[in-house]
Amino acid sequence: MTRLEGKTALITGAARGIGEAIARRFAAEGAMVWVTDIDPAGAAVAKAIGGRFALLDVRDEAAWDRVMAQVGALDILVNNAGITGFEGPPAAHDPEHASLADWRAVHAVNLDGTFLGCRAAIRAMRRRCSEGGKGSIINISSRSGIVGIPAAAAYASSKAAVRNHTKSVALWCASQGLAIRCNSIHPAAILTPMWDPMLGTTPEEREAATRAFVADTPLRRFGTADEVAAMAAYLASDESAYVTGSEFHIDGGILAGSAASPE
Ligand code: NDP
Repeated sequence: MTRLEGKTALITGAARGIGEAIARRFAAEGAMVWVTDIDPAGAAVAKAIGGRFALLDVRDEAAWDRVMAQVGALDILVNNAGITGFEGPPAAHDPEHASLADWRAVHAVNLDGTFLGCRAAIRAMRRRCSEGGKGSIINISSRSGIVGIPAAAAYASSKAAVRNHTKSVALWCASQGLAIRCNSIHPAAILTPMWDPMLGTTPEEREAATRAFVADTPLRRFGTADEVAAMAAYLASDESAYVTGSEFHIDGGILAGSAASPE
């Protein structure tokens, strides 16, 4: 478990959920981890894993500059921070009724945040590469970036754009002769606090919603944040040195088939 020894990693949205699991796994693999989040609770995660914490709203260009000046040399970036749009009061997110403000708010975090993160990382890693270093950028997209999601159109659109931008970043870095790789991870149905607004509040509501949801998942269960972290550790490490511009699904088999497949 020392595949990331000597490397410095920064993870966005790492106060909880998938980001926290990635931070813990990277630290266990020997990396020096910068836990960043808009939520100050990330400081406790950083303390627990012997890393460092920085407040970072991924939408904020100046904040990226401030944090990167603190971090200095960087080997690994995980653009993990993301929102569905369902965190606040109920609002329509379908293509007919969504407001422009709600559409933009989701893209601001998921897409603008990823763009700013990739740009900051390329600039920092370029310096590292000139000294023989390597970089790995991992963008957390979603299976919603592969298929349409009528009730969460902005989320799906933003995650599809993250998938595509990953490939532009990968090809740009390769064309520059930089040893910086960029790949996307596409999770689905990973049980984290992100699901709270969608599963209901009472234990009965949660059990019924969970049962209904996993009935459509070939492996018949939710995935865990640790399972996503294991995939991220591979992409962050030099074991994946020949992997760039690629997309990795982790979804219990959801995307393997089609609801319309004949019996
Ligand atoms: P969570 O909601 O559990 O955690 C997201 C974290 O990101 C929270 O700490 C949140 O802080 C933080 N955050 C929100 N907005 C910003 C911002 N502007 N800047 C910095 N941090 C911010 O989500 P998950 O762990 O479930 O999801 C992580 C990533 O994985 C997301 O990109 C998500 O879209 C993706 N994903 C998740 C799936 C799942 O099933 N869980 C499936 C597919 C993709 P706060 O709580 O204060 O808002």
